Amino acid sequence: MKKIIIGMLLVLQGSIGISYATGCDYPNIDGVKWYHISDEKRAIYLEVYNIAAEKIKAEVESQKLQKGQWGIILDIDETTLDNSLNEYENYKTYEFNEDEYNKAKGVSLPGAKMLVNLVHNLGGYVSFVTNRNGEAKGRVEATVKNLKQEGIYFDQVIFANGEEKVAHNKNPRFKAIETGKYLDDIILTNKLPAHEVIAYFGDNIQDFPNMTQDNMRKVDDDGYSMFGKKYFMFPNPTYGSWQ
Ligand SMILES: [Mg+2]
Repeated sequence: MKKIIIGMLLVLQGSIGISYATGCDYPNIDGVKWYHISDEKRAIYLEVYNIAAEKIKAEVESQKLQKGQWGIILDIDETTLDNSLNEYENYKTYEFNEDEYNKAKGVSLPGAKMLVNLVHNLGGYVSFVTNRNGEAKGRVEATVKNLKQEGIYFDQVIFANGEEKVAHNKNPRFKAIETGKYLDDIILTNKLPAHEVIAYFGDNIQDFPNMTQDNMRKVDDDGYSMFGKKYFMFPNPTYGSWQ
């Protein structure tokens, strides 16, 4: 009986476009499958990183930015590293567990290496600001190891200092990068001198300065005018602050 109900719900989901079928055992499977194997996802990552590369080259040129004066900030998970394999292979039993990050099994996303190498070669700093919990045992080391084994260049990685909502607010960490003034409780691989940030990359609205689901829902399209110019967003239908 349960199978029949699930089957009916899946048919209903497909026919009228409900993204979440309440009662379905694996509500996330289409999002995870799309993220893990679709050609559309690969195309979008390359598209966004290619556009960003052109914008960054133009900005460095027009502002005559010198080495050490500027940089970019990227999120890690589902922006530069793809963590979808485990959920894709085990979707029936999958439950998110941040300790999975300690296995350092993320795979570099299309275009990510190209973009960070370009910034490095142009003389810019590459900073990662992640909400991986830097207080968790082995998390900092595993994250650095994963980025390195995937060939992702970086000058600095800054972590969340806990699991709480306040620790997930990236704005104080963005400010630290721009001012060069780091609070005592910040968890990071190393500090960098103050510099101008000319581009941000993320898969969550909160990866961008002063943006949240709530405040961005209230603005008109002009409030999103930085996207495609200085802010670059990737798709993540598998999890996020939109949930
Ligand atoms: Mg992310």
